[in-house]
Formats: sequence, structure tokens, C-alpha cells
Amino acid sequence: MNANPHLLDRLATLTSIRDLELLEFSLLKTVYELFRPEQVMMLKYDSDGDVRFTMRYGHDGCHESNRTVRSKEPEQPEVFSALRMARRISAPYHSRLVNGNSLSAYPALDFQVLSVCLVIEARRPATPNDVRLIQGLLQIYRNFCELIEDAQRDQLTGLLNRKTFDESIQRVIGMSATAAYPFVDDERRQQADTDISYWLGLIDIDNFKLVNDNLGHIYGDEVLLLLSQIMRDIFRESDLLFRFGGEEFVVITENVDMEGARTAFERFRQAVAAFEFPQVGRVTVSFGAVEVHPGDVVHALLDRADKALYFAKHHGKNRVCFYDELLAQGQIQPARSFVNNEAELF
Ligand code: GH3
Ligand code: MG
Ligand code: MG
Repeated sequence: MNANPHLLDRLATLTSIRDLELLEFSLLKTVYELFRPEQVMMLKYDSDGDVRFTMRYGHDGCHESNRTVRSKEPEQPEVFSALRMARRISAPYHSRLVNGNSLSAYPALDFQVLSVCLVIEARRPATPNDVRLIQGLLQIYRNFCELIEDAQRDQLTGLLNRKTFDESIQRVIGMSATAAYPFVDDERRQQADTDISYWLGLIDIDNFKLVNDNLGHIYGDEVLLLLSQIMRDIFRESDLLFRFGGEEFVVITENVDMEGARTAFERFRQAVAAFEFPQVGRVTVSFGAVEVHPGDVVHALLDRADKALYFAKHHGKNRVCFYDELLAQGQIQPARSFVNNEAELF
């Protein structure tokens, strides 16, 4: 191995990073500084091979793009074919570009929804030592992705945890519609560009205390686990699913209008109501649903969801209630934090 005095420094930096995007940036920077290639790219692509996210580090610094590039598009055909080959053989794939540079594609991560590949364009072909070193760096990247992934998930259900909710809701609120959901289909995005909307469903299991009281906590936990599996089956891969607290869950979904959100939330409510939970029998859930507006304040948003949920609980349970609808119908008063159209900040 080429003894590089900066390698350990770079590794120390890499291993001290917890945020995924920073880690990826640092990985590219490390590869760039070690090998001084023309450019190094990290590409995240879906199961169709369409690239959803690109981070590139070259002589001109770092660039990111969330634009979807279809694998059939003529853009960067050499990169796509290297990506396809590396994916097919599950090993680094090396090729040569028309300008004489060499192109190497390294599979980095393989998730169900998204895979990650590192692509390096350099003036000289990679030596076996280079390949080993890059694979070592990618192993560190993989290990850290696993650690980050573990820290983001709830232990019982495997759904995203409350801490992750607090971080992601800010992004959903803050980002523009298209940037907030980088993994949605192009068709849906085009359709939705003008009026895309995000919906949050606060889900609370009905009469859950009875399950614990009658059968014990173990059965209660089993219900939570099975319910989270139904959630995963019913909602789309791009929807965000959280265990919000004890027997409360949150789903954030993208739809063009309230009816789309209602269809998705109702589908889940009905699937739960129809499921036979072993020993426990039937379990139902209530939903408080709200639209997420850009610039929303988190506690005000949750206040509105809570208010709709409270209404559902006091009107028969096992139902989906939308805050805006209840408000328009005069069934509820504006949530406390929205009186005078002003969010209280505390
Ligand atoms: P409601 O229909 O009004 O929601 O009634 P409920 O009984 O579900 O409501 P409540 O909020 O009073 O009770 C929630 C119960 O959920 C309390 C607690 O026993 C149970 N619970 C909370 N977290 C867990 C958990 O992690 N495991 C188990 N087994 N039970 C939990
Ligand atoms: Mg509750
Ligand atoms: Mg409950």
C-alpha cells in the first residue's frame, strides 16, 4: 500500500462523523485527496437503475444533485453502463472513456430501495492496491451506515424512531416540495409540481390499555410489532413511517390532495381493523390527519394533528379525521397555537 501520511488523518475524520451526508462528502474528499482523480462521484440509484442522487467531487469542489436521471437517458452513458456492470457482477468494474481516462465503478451499498455506487474517473487506471484501499474505505462507509441506520430506528418495530422524526419533520417542512422527497417517481413529481402536498397522520391504537391489562405487555408488544408490519405493507416505500411513542405512530406521505391522503390512511385503518391479531383478536386505530405546510412550526403541526385525533377518539374511534375538514365543518375550534393565525413559539 502506498504509505500516505494523510490517510490516518482522513480516517480519523471519517470515523468521527455521524451525519450521513457529511460522511459521504468526507468519503469523496478522502478518495479525491488520496488519488487526485479527475472526479469521484457517489451515485444513489433505485431498483430500476435510475439515479436519484449524485454527489460529485472534482477539481472544482463538491456538487450535489437530487435530480432523477433515468438509466435510459442519453446523459452520461459510460457512467450508467459502468454502474450496471458493477451492479451485475457485485464487484468493481473498470472501463476506459473515449477521452482516454479510466472509469471505475465500485458497488458501495445495497439496500432494497436504494443502492449506492462510487464512480471514479482518473487519468491512470486503478492499481490493485488502489482498489483494495478504496474497498477498505467503502467498508468503513458501510459500517457507519449501519450504525447510523441502527440509531435511527425503534428497537421493537424497526420503524424510524422519535428522534429521527424530530430531525426529518424539519426537512419535510423546510424543503420545497420536489426536494423534500427525492425518491418519488418522475410521473408523480411532474403531476405534482404545482400542487404537491405532504400529509401527516398521527395514529393512536384504540383501547390499547385493555390489551395490556387483559393479556399482558408481551401481547401488547406483539400487537405493536404486527401493526408496524401492516404499516410497511400498506404505505409506499417513499412514505416515512415512525414509531412516535408507546402506541402512537406517525406516517408522512406525499399526495396531490386530501382525497389521496384519505385513501392511503383509510387503507391502513381498514387493513388493521380487518387483521386477526393472535390471541388479541381485533384492534383498531384512530388517525388525526393534517397537511404539512412549508414554514409550519412543528409543535403547531402536531397540535393540529392531536386535535383531529382527539376528535376521532371522542367520536367512535376507528376513524380518520382531517383537521382542516373538521375546522371547515365547524366541528372543532382552531388549535390553540393557531389562534389569531400566529404560532406561539416557546
Ligand atoms: P385510546 O383509545 O383512548 O387511545 O385508549 P388507550 O387505552 O389506547 O389509551 P391510553 O393512552 O390511555 O393508553 C395507552 C397505553 O399503551 C398505555 C400503556 O399501557 C400502553 N403502552 C404504551 N407503550 C407501550 C409499549 O411499548 N408496549 C406495550 N405493551 N404497551 C404500551
Ligand atoms: Mg396514546
Ligand atoms: Mg391509544
